[in-house]
Amino acid sequence: MGIFVPDPIRNDGQERRPLLGILGGTFDPIHLGHLRLAEEVAEVLELDRVHFVPAAIPPHRPQPTLSAEMRLDLVSRAIADNARFVPDDRELRRSGASFTIDTLQDFRRTHPNHHLVLLLGMDAFNGLMHWHRWQELLAWTHIAVATRPGAQLGTQAGQLLHECSRSLAQFQTTQAGGIQQIEITRLDISATAIRQGLDLGHSVRYLVPESLLKPLYRHYSAPRFGQCGDK
Ligand code: ATP
Repeated sequence: MGIFVPDPIRNDGQERRPLLGILGGTFDPIHLGHLRLAEEVAEVLELDRVHFVPAAIPPHRPQPTLSAEMRLDLVSRAIADNARFVPDDRELRRSGASFTIDTLQDFRRTHPNHHLVLLLGMDAFNGLMHWHRWQELLAWTHIAVATRPGAQLGTQAGQLLHECSRSLAQFQTTQAGGIQQIEITRLDISATAIRQGLDLGHSVRYLVPESLLKPLYRHYSAPRFGQCGDK
């Protein structure tokens, strides 16, 4: 069975529109892997802005350990000195699960003059076919897939990438439906490893921005429940 490929929606007269990047994630916590992903994709695709959108209740994975407020606060601190990066709490303001399709529709409403580009690491892109209403996503956005250590392009994802591969000019002149794979600096950093390090009292310096160290160390050294098997 072939993969669903939507007809790209063309804008009137094929004029170029600025591209708005959307980096969703659990950000539990945000780290330098996220920041390089956004920076390098923004450079290659000449993105006007990148919105960092922490998920409230991520539907495809275990629930975050840090609170939504803290994850958003850390995102805001991490990107404070970058004029192109924007903290975006729209998923935290919605109730229920954070479905990307709803987020994209909301961005279309708030940014009608941009074309949207969803930024995904390769591991996330490989799981795209399990997302809620995934076949509709490409009717709303383009997708940029960034390389990530440990993640190889899966068969189905590779087929989708092949069928929907588009140039930067096509991203700018069509509203949605294109995919590009972008080779970025491979940083083997994950939030999981950072949480494990913090749990063990290890340093996470140079894995997260310097401005996050104090709040993270403070949070992880405070007494927390459930660490010793909460029977
Ligand atoms: P966790 O370890 O808790 O699963 P994570 O480090 O994968 O978290 P997420 O917030 O789940 O971080 O990731 C958000 C997005 O950023 C995803 O698309 C993911 O693929 C991408 N991403 C995260 N870390 C990297 C990295 N080091 N290199 C490239 N992409 C990354």
